[in-house]
Amino acid sequence: MNVGYDLHTHSTASDGTLEPAQLVRHAAESDIRMLALTDHDTTAGVAEAAREAKKLGIAFVPGVEISVTWGSNGIHILGLGIDPECTLLQQGLESLRDYRLWRAREIGRRLDERGIPGAYEGALRLAGQGLIARPHFARYLITRGMAPDMRTVFRRYLVRGKPGYVPSRWANLEDAVSWIRAAGGQAVIAHPARYPLTRTRLRKLLGEFVAAGGAGLEVVSGAHNRDEIRTMAFHAHDFGLSASLGSDYHGPESPWVGLGRLPDLPAGSTPIWKDWRDTPPL
Ligand code: AMP
Ligand code: MN
Ligand code: MN
Ligand code: MN
Repeated sequence: MNVGYDLHTHSTASDGTLEPAQLVRHAAESDIRMLALTDHDTTAGVAEAAREAKKLGIAFVPGVEISVTWGSNGIHILGLGIDPECTLLQQGLESLRDYRLWRAREIGRRLDERGIPGAYEGALRLAGQGLIARPHFARYLITRGMAPDMRTVFRRYLVRGKPGYVPSRWANLEDAVSWIRAAGGQAVIAHPARYPLTRTRLRKLLGEFVAAGGAGLEVVSGAHNRDEIRTMAFHAHDFGLSASLGSDYHGPESPWVGLGRLPDLPAGSTPIWKDWRDTPPL
């Protein structure tokens, strides 16, 4: 069991439920020695998390998780070790947040049409200072008694074919990778086993990702089982991609995903942090 590193987490800057500083304190209590904050389409939580990590003596990796549309699929690309001051990156993220806000209104409009009023306003309230994402709609619908839990509410209302689904156009793959590289970061495909892609399509994605300058694959994820970890380690090796590891922690409400509660990278993997400076020993 790896309890030292976690390179994929969320805070209230996007759809996580802990404030950036709270998240870092929780990481320290969980014996994490290197933590990346990777909020969806924003780096707004990075400065606060970095300050807290410095105070507590944890190695901190500034990150982001960029929403990408590839064909008809939503794909998430992590940027690790990015400079949040990079203008090109920030312009890209801002365009995604503008789009997000439009989509949120559209989700609200569609739910309203189906007899569920007030969802946009309710979700916006739950998003607070952070950006708005589908989990805010999900939590709002749960408070309205429309479903018992996150899994059910997504299945009934927020996925393809359901009342609150909006076919989305996020960034394209090449742009997302180029923003991350412009900011001095490494691009990593998040939770690769979670996309509804055949093996052939996944390998097509990996080929295009490598050609665009992608660096890594999230081989170990809170969303992967043992078989998926083994398969992804194989693909990473085949495409010359480094291997990353992250829980995709969103807060204590999902106790089955713990911070840093992850298996080690499979033997023979090239860790994404291989050439990083100041990495604490695993
Ligand atoms: P968005 O970026 O607004 O489309 O929201 C995507 C987020 O919703 C993901 O990052 C997850 O946190 C969450 N999510 C997506 N699908 C599900 C699901 N089936 N059950 C629970 N949460 C989900
Ligand atoms: Mn999320
Ligand atoms: Mn994701
Ligand atoms: Mn994530």
